[in-house]
Amino acid sequence: MKKINLGILGGGQLGSMLCMAAKKLNIYTIVWSDDPVSPAKDFSDEFIFSNYNNSEKINYFAKKVDKITFEFENIPFDILDKLNSIKEVLPKPQINKIVQNRILEKDFVNNQNIKTTEYKKVSKKEDLMSNADLLPAMLKTATLGYDGKGQFKLNNLEDCKSISLSKNTNYILEKLVNLKKEISVIVTRFKKNEYEIYEPFENRHEDQILRVSKIPANISKEHFSQSIEYAKKISEKLDYVGTLCVEFFIDDKDNLLVNEIAPRVHNSGHMTINSHNVSQFENHIRAVCGLEKIKILKLYNAEMTNILGKEIIKFKGKKLQNNEFFFDYLKKEIKEKRKMGHFTEINKIND
Ligand code: ADP
Ligand code: MG
Repeated sequence: MKKINLGILGGGQLGSMLCMAAKKLNIYTIVWSDDPVSPAKDFSDEFIFSNYNNSEKINYFAKKVDKITFEFENIPFDILDKLNSIKEVLPKPQINKIVQNRILEKDFVNNQNIKTTEYKKVSKKEDLMSNADLLPAMLKTATLGYDGKGQFKLNNLEDCKSISLSKNTNYILEKLVNLKKEISVIVTRFKKNEYEIYEPFENRHEDQILRVSKIPANISKEHFSQSIEYAKKISEKLDYVGTLCVEFFIDDKDNLLVNEIAPRVHNSGHMTINSHNVSQFENHIRAVCGLEKIKILKLYNAEMTNILGKEIIKFKGKKLQNNEFFFDYLKKEIKEKRKMGHFTEINKIND
């Protein structure tokens, strides 16, 4: 069989882990990133460094690969679309148009009869003042945010008055949810009604950044099955191919609300490398490259902790027990709160 060449846009740690999974499946990876010191550079078979809007590189990349996917959802839609006209991009670029924008994303979710927190579009100060009934609230840029970047908590009218909004920027004002718990569901969809779904992960965030994820999640049977149903419905409606994550809030009245959709492999699923027979990364590659679907099986319970900033120093060279796994993203520069690696502990399933 001819070896498959897989093109991956974006070169962060998700790209590295996709490359490792591809290696296991004997798939050749070509990573394209606009950062010359991308972590995935050292894990890919071939690495392209250039801005994504370089038309020469677009043609070179698209001709060289058999399939294209991405590890970073904020690649401009026009570029994904152009690439898709030469070689198939999966998941489909049209999906990004919706999920790249927090307003369109929440409109889409509500249109499926799935609840989110209340929200309003905001583009100027007056919009903030006229939607004060949503306070306390989170104000987020409609596009391009991650790990809490571009987010501001507004407690009262004073906060609204003092915040300065950038010109020509759309924001979403989201009613603050009284969080009881956060969970996420990761689904890999292969085609119509064919998917593999991991059980919900329970997530704890600190300063809007994921800190710890674990399975099993300490949630009710109803939330367990409802969150899986919602993730399935969302992936089906988007005609999604590959791995997708739906992040949920459970509020203090036990309402299950969708927070956001990540059209890619997701931080909360890193433990699947060690806890399951097939990881979220391998599943993504299998789906995108049209390989066989394997029934997933949980082998262990697990807990994954993100290693942020300087914390990485003490992990390098740490002696590990045989149920502990440390992943160093090998980032060249330590920055405060930057995801530098993760640590997974697996434990026997007691049923
Ligand atoms: P990102 O794209 O950075 O992951 P999210 O919208 O998922 O952005 O927000 C990150 C975290 O911030 C959430 O997981 C949650 O802990 C907190 N958060 C965001 N929006 C709200 C909200 N409306 N109510 C309560 N907590 C929120
Ligand atoms: Mg999030």
